[in-house]
Amino acid sequence: MMIFKEYESEVQSYSRSFPVVFTQAKGSKLFDENGNEYLDFLAGAGSLNYGHNNPILKESLIEYIQNDGVAHGLDMHTEAKAGFLEAFRDIILKPRDLDHKVMFTGPTGANCVEAALKLARKVTGRHNIVSFTNGFHGCTLGALAATGNSHHRGGAGQPLSGVTRLPYDGYLGDNFNTLELFKKMLTDNSSGLDMPAAVILEIVQGEGGLNTASGKWLKELSMICKEHGILFIADDIQAGCGRTGTFFSFDQFDIKPDIITLSKSLSAFGLPFAVTLFDRKLDIWKPGEHNGTFRGNNHAFVTAKKALETYWADDKFASHIHARSEQLKLALNKICDNYPELYRKGRGLMQGICCPSGDIADDITSLCFKENLIIETSGPEGEVVKCFPPLTVSEEEMAHGLNILEQAFDQYFSAHMELKKAS
Ligand code: PLP
Repeated sequence: MMIFKEYESEVQSYSRSFPVVFTQAKGSKLFDENGNEYLDFLAGAGSLNYGHNNPILKESLIEYIQNDGVAHGLDMHTEAKAGFLEAFRDIILKPRDLDHKVMFTGPTGANCVEAALKLARKVTGRHNIVSFTNGFHGCTLGALAATGNSHHRGGAGQPLSGVTRLPYDGYLGDNFNTLELFKKMLTDNSSGLDMPAAVILEIVQGEGGLNTASGKWLKELSMICKEHGILFIADDIQAGCGRTGTFFSFDQFDIKPDIITLSKSLSAFGLPFAVTLFDRKLDIWKPGEHNGTFRGNNHAFVTAKKALETYWADDKFASHIHARSEQLKLALNKICDNYPELYRKGRGLMQGICCPSGDIADDITSLCFKENLIIETSGPEGEVVKCFPPLTVSEEEMAHGLNILEQAFDQYFSAHMELKKAS
């Protein structure tokens, strides 16, 4: 369509991989203007964990709008906000023994990261933040300083400062504990590391290539932080809201982050909505000090509350995610068994296949799109084919998508005989 070419900025990205015009979406499917149906293994980059137009959530929102519920109220108290906070307290915070307060920031992931970094600096009186290789935290200047990717960093147009980067778990190979470097630098007064206000990290790195941190590494990092008065910020914007199988991606680990950022699927309906959660002792904000017009989204409060009550009040949804994750793991392992150049990465419903290059991964996702599977890449060179279906995906839909993916790899490798199929 010419209108996009003529008027939409060159900054557009996902539309380049999937150059059709979408008109409708339902569950795990998208439909284009010519009536073609696509299986969505991108899920709004993690913003559609509960599927497109989830009927339970849609109904609650339609009812709210029909009754003239408040759509926008700045940060004034509304019934919808109270409903969300109560559900979040009862279903998410209390059962995890998290005594965290909820700060409604601007509605994007970058917004809640900015608030987290600002608060950590304000509380500790230190300026430096430690972030990790391949971490992605957003494209506003503060968040971008903590982001590793040079393509995104290159867009800043000014120095990105206030952050020291250290190697993430596994960055130097399986047998090297990268925290040894951090520990040494913190105790050597000539290491050049300004004492950090906080560390910020993803428990599973979404954009950085599905790298996972182990429970042991995370626990050790949290102990180092405690010892030196450094705040631990878990950026759960992409890996949270159930993506790894539990509501928070760190639920199964013995850590309690001081600050947690959530966005993407928090609204559960694809609506813009973000929060920064922090230990109540850290709540030293002055009224309106970190302000914004769109903080909290009343429509999102309604759908988020409904999603918490529907999907997280018991273990059924977590069991469903676990079953689909195992299905995904088996299928990806099967593909990797066929081609020794490939290996599986990630966990839960954020797993993928690492290819020898970004070009190969691109060819695979293009082949998938020809078969109406929407799937993207991640990693420093875009070398990881990343399976990101809605968490509500059915067993049949998952099997169908994985079948397309397997055939794409077979087609690619049979056309490139230099990369021979394993015997
Ligand atoms: N943090 C993580 C872990 C992310 O994956 C993202 C986006 O992909 C962000 C922050 C930034 O979120 P947003 O794009 O909504 O600003």
